Amino acid sequence: MTTIHNLGFPRIGARRELKFALESYWKGETSREALTTLGAALRRRHWADQAGLDLVPVGDFSFYDQVLDMSFALGNLPERVQDFHGDPLDNYFRVARGRSAQGGEAHAACCGGVAAGEMTKWFDTNYHYIVPEFTAQTPFTLDASRLLAQLAEAREQGVDAKPVIIGPLTYLALGKAKDGSSKLDLLPRILPAYAQLLDALVEAGAQWVQIDEPVLVTELDADWQHAFNLAYHELKGCRVKILLATYFGQLQDNQYLAANLPVAGLHVDAINGRDDIRPLLNLLSPHKVLSLGVINGRNIWKTDLNAVLDWLEPLAAQLGERLWIAPSCSLLHVPVDLANETKLDGDIKSWLAFALQKLDELRLLGTALRDGRDAVKEALAGNAAALAARRSSPRVHAPAVQAAVAKIDANLGRRASAYAQRARKQAALLRLPAYPTTTIGSFPQTPEIRHARSAFKAGTLDSAGYQAAMQAEIARSVREQEALGLDVFVHGEAERNDMVEYFGEQLEGYAFSQNGWVQSYGSRCVKPPILFGDISRPQPMTVAWTAYAQSLTDKPMKGMLTGPVTILNWSFVRDDQPRAASCRQLALAIRAEVLDLERAGVRVIQIDEAALREGLPLRRAQWGEYLDWAVESFRIAANGVRDETQIHTHMCYSEFNDIIASIAGMDADVITIETSRSDMELLDAFDHFRYPNQIGPGVYDIHSPNIPSREHIVGLMTKAAQRVPAERLWVNPDCGLKTRQWAEVLPALANMVAAAKELRAAA
Ligand code: GLN
Ligand code: ZN
Repeated sequence: MTTIHNLGFPRIGARRELKFALESYWKGETSREALTTLGAALRRRHWADQAGLDLVPVGDFSFYDQVLDMSFALGNLPERVQDFHGDPLDNYFRVARGRSAQGGEAHAACCGGVAAGEMTKWFDTNYHYIVPEFTAQTPFTLDASRLLAQLAEAREQGVDAKPVIIGPLTYLALGKAKDGSSKLDLLPRILPAYAQLLDALVEAGAQWVQIDEPVLVTELDADWQHAFNLAYHELKGCRVKILLATYFGQLQDNQYLAANLPVAGLHVDAINGRDDIRPLLNLLSPHKVLSLGVINGRNIWKTDLNAVLDWLEPLAAQLGERLWIAPSCSLLHVPVDLANETKLDGDIKSWLAFALQKLDELRLLGTALRDGRDAVKEALAGNAAALAARRSSPRVHAPAVQAAVAKIDANLGRRASAYAQRARKQAALLRLPAYPTTTIGSFPQTPEIRHARSAFKAGTLDSAGYQAAMQAEIARSVREQEALGLDVFVHGEAERNDMVEYFGEQLEGYAFSQNGWVQSYGSRCVKPPILFGDISRPQPMTVAWTAYAQSLTDKPMKGMLTGPVTILNWSFVRDDQPRAASCRQLALAIRAEVLDLERAGVRVIQIDEAALREGLPLRRAQWGEYLDWAVESFRIAANGVRDETQIHTHMCYSEFNDIIASIAGMDADVITIETSRSDMELLDAFDHFRYPNQIGPGVYDIHSPNIPSREHIVGLMTKAAQRVPAERLWVNPDCGLKTRQWAEVLPALANMVAAAKELRAAA
């Protein structure tokens, strides 16, 4: 009989209950008890939601982050927080956020403020974890209390509990050695803590423990491969059965390693790693469990259950009891419950599955494998009908869009002239000074903007009233920019709630959920729009706002767009065509907008690709393919304009070393990037590559309320000019200013303009 199980459940709550509880606790509005009670209630509910599964994950619930939980379990706290007094949960929040609760801060004097842990993306997801910190001396001492408490709680509720922990190699791989020491040298010290943890879990009644080692789907060198063997041979002595879980990709050259580790079972992602399964069947020793992740834990589409059964049935016959099935990865990365969506179009809703619906699919597959497909005939027929409807829906398939994509050729993405010629024409037209100043797009989203937006959504403000309110904000932005003396203006993006949603809402082929929240980090959630069909742009999306803004000033007004790659990477995307195909459709839609802006007299157009880098595949070997279509898509979007039209792009990160050739390949006339915190060193990548076009290295860290001084900015730009010729430099902030307040923005930008003037005078 096939075992059905789950790898992890979204912890935030179907109504984001955890988010609200955390935030009110942090504000000092509610008690610690209220928070822990809510946590227990969520766990109880989520375990009940998983009823009928043979094994249910425990320990996946977290008040902030599962990696930080692991750091606490291993006693690996940064030195700066080791003398903390007070409540452990508050100390946990201090490491996560740099502070715990406001108001009830009893330890402000002795151990109050502290630098928060660094955050970074969990593999190729949009979930961010707190990076473990190591030094050569890091000690590890087990504190299993959190996990044991959750296990006891689950067992009390009659849950068939399978504790989930992050494996030692993945834990080390995700961390950062602060002193540059070798992380693998810590292995002999970390393993005893793991062994104790496993023993403690057996004592507490666990039979199986899921150890997550997703790092097995990345390229591992011989040292890391060896370390895997060493680690799991050492943990072999523990009496618990280990299910080693990998997900998000293919094992490829780690197949042999993964198959031969001395564990009781192996979970693989049968969505992204389907090709691994055949070879694994031959490699796995005949007593090991093979768990197949057959339901996609990364998207929101219904599974083709019949197709999965066609594939699984022979495997079930071959593997018998040894076959387990599950979602491909933790369901942390999908929203909780489709049933809460009351406004979604009925057709589209019938094609979707959120976490709870995915678990229903899993139960169905389990029953079909156990009792035969006839036992779930109706449900399978319903599933097949929904899929067939989706496959043939005219809402998904737009022949005109497909025809346009088929006609794409290399010329579409090519500017008429090379950069140097374009630059001359643009300079003659724009007449900008040396070190031109600009901003990245958004200005502060004031309470007035938010009120107008919510009133408009609620229907209490009509569209004329809304338009007037937004125009007033735009006019204010223009006035402030005039007063500051900036050179290239922006309209301020008052009308945009979110840089992807704004475009998604106006494109055919997009749908929006009401409650489709996914945890991004801590209490922060995102609600990715759902790209379900062929993309087209029924009408201009930004032209009226930009034209209005331009009408208020003689300075060049930047048209402001989000690029195709970023729109794609921040959406739930189709599973019925390659990402590249959806990206090209988006590219054509943005291209049409670019050309409309140009026609409306806009001379500078910025196309943001904030998320281009984060779309990089997990394996370097696959980077080239991704970058090819990503860059091609940008070029299609951007490069249809005349020589005189200046194309900007913006990326808010600072690691370009690996991808600089592709960035140059985009051929934007100007790129603005985040640099202020790296002291301009990252410009070395541009320097070494001899990046040919113009660059605006950010000189104002917009994540901080601090106002950069004129001297500081001059200093940064002087360093920049040592790496990039001054005539190709712009002066601008790191990113958009929407999260700041005007009171911070105005003095900062005034200093920035003053710095540019000083640089010009000195040149
Ligand atoms: N133009 C956008 C803004 O200024 C860019 C945001 C981003 O790069 N994340 O808000
Ligand atoms: Zn940015």
